[in-house]
Amino acid sequence: MLQIHFIDMLHVLDNYNFILHDDVANVTAVVDPSEEDGVLAALGARGLKLDAILTTHHHWDHTTGVAPLAKMTGCKVVGNAADAARIPSLNKPVHAGSVYHFGEYDWQVIDVSAHTMGHVIYYCAQEHIAFTGDSIFAMGCGRLFEGSAQQLYDSLQAIMALPDATQLYCGHEYTVANAKFALSVEPDNEAVKKRLAWAEAQRAAGQPTLPTTVALEKATNPFVRTHSATIREILQMADASDVAVCAELRKRKDAF
Ligand SMILES: [Zn+2]
Repeated sequence: MLQIHFIDMLHVLDNYNFILHDDVANVTAVVDPSEEDGVLAALGARGLKLDAILTTHHHWDHTTGVAPLAKMTGCKVVGNAADAARIPSLNKPVHAGSVYHFGEYDWQVIDVSAHTMGHVIYYCAQEHIAFTGDSIFAMGCGRLFEGSAQQLYDSLQAIMALPDATQLYCGHEYTVANAKFALSVEPDNEAVKKRLAWAEAQRAAGQPTLPTTVALEKATNPFVRTHSATIREILQMADASDVAVCAELRKRKDAF
């Protein structure tokens, strides 16, 4: 069975790291280590030995732990070959469109360049799980640092093309703030209101609001709801393209 554990790295930038443990093959990976100490403590508490690090993109809050962990454990460091120069200690470059075999599971490497060029997600069709880094968040998406608006739109659509039940493990706990923005641009969306109340209760109880699912994002994430008449009315973009609406939403969220 595939087990996923959260590592609370909220002291970094509200980051989550994830431990991925395949108890049949007895192999363990960590996704996007923000720093090494928290990862080592979480592995130690479960008696696990690190075999691989999966990296989604080069940003420091997802990679600062990579080099120290690789040096200490000799683990594989998996990342996009196309962004090899910016992923520390990369020793297992993978290409977008390829599959990374880890234990009993296959992880499809999918390019979602936008937040950064070369950002990838890892999707396991057997378990309907994806690690999405900073490409999509619950009711939001990553800032557009390197790609174009078209690339942002396309990357989000690529994630929405995964099966509805796919569980998305995002790199940050931004759900409450994202829900407030989502409501500001789609105030009549009852699913967002419900989700905001749920997320606030989860956070008050010290619990994560992730993973999300593709279906939940289709219902509540404004960046993939560019068809919404309410959103288009509020943005005064009734006849604009989906890409233009997505870009305007990103601009407004940056200033929110
Ligand atoms: Zn990032």
